[in-house]
Amino acid sequence: MPVDATLPYDDQNIFARILRGEIPSRRVYEDEFALAFHDIAPWSPTHILVIPKGAYVSWDDFSARGSDPEIAGFVRAVGHVAREAGLVEPGYRLLANAGPHSHQEVPHLHVHILAGRPLGPMLV
Ligand code: IMP
Repeated sequence: MPVDATLPYDDQNIFARILRGEIPSRRVYEDEFALAFHDIAPWSPTHILVIPKGAYVSWDDFSARGSDPEIAGFVRAVGHVAREAGLVEPGYRLLANAGPHSHQEVPHLHVHILAGRPLGPMLV
């Protein structure tokens, strides 16, 4: 089900539970601001999700309420994960869904890092 962005943050969402270590994930990176782990149903050979440690529903929520250190730390973490995964060449795609038309399904901000094959043009 797409996220209802009018609802408050749900601390029982699956990524909040992954952050708390209540359910397993294939972690690739963690620091003060972010956690990165492999997507459970990858769309491409490499499909990593990066989430902020703070309780933010979406990119819209994070960019409005996140502190400058959180936002800078998160953006740096996304870049670090992509570099450490060896994705800079031949390249990767970042994607973050926000709001009902985007079909965001998990109500904790996540950036998808997609790579590992030519991704072609964005189709939507
Ligand atoms: P969204 O549509 O942008 O919200 O993407 C949610 C993503 O979370 C999808 O690509 C799912 O495959 C992924 N996902 C859902 N549950 C888990 C999990 O438990 N571990 C890792 N990825 C998950």
